[in-house]
Amino acid sequence: MFCDQVSQSDEDALIVHRGEHCYVVLNLYPYGSGHMMILPFRHVSTPGDLDTGERAALWELLDRAQKATKDGLGAQGHNVGFNLGAAAGAGIEDHLHMHVVPRWHGDVNFMPVLADVRVMPQHLSETRLAIVAAWPH
Ligand SMILES: [Zn+2]
Repeated sequence: MFCDQVSQSDEDALIVHRGEHCYVVLNLYPYGSGHMMILPFRHVSTPGDLDTGERAALWELLDRAQKATKDGLGAQGHNVGFNLGAAAGAGIEDHLHMHVVPRWHGDVNFMPVLADVRVMPQHLSETRLAIVAAWPH
């Protein structure tokens, strides 16, 4: 699924940013507004399979994703994590992806486990544009 979406346009795939090693894309089934995933272009399933460039890119993009959602959406905090394996709730377990979920004081979207998927009625394309506009370069 992830390997297919990178051939689509950024708008169609809801891709926020493409780097050299990794890219950032909005989750189609977000836990909350601005729920993104950061992942390597390469089809690898565990953190141990990442090369040095991909590891560095993942953390660097996490920093930029935090800044973009603070500036673009007013996020006040973030949940960050991986679901590794189907038993841990990974919907797509063969292509590693880091979840980044913006949070706000008092939001009711408490998330004990990342696997609890819910569909939010929101305009993903508008959310994407707000994050892209605030994306640090
Ligand atoms: Zn893949």
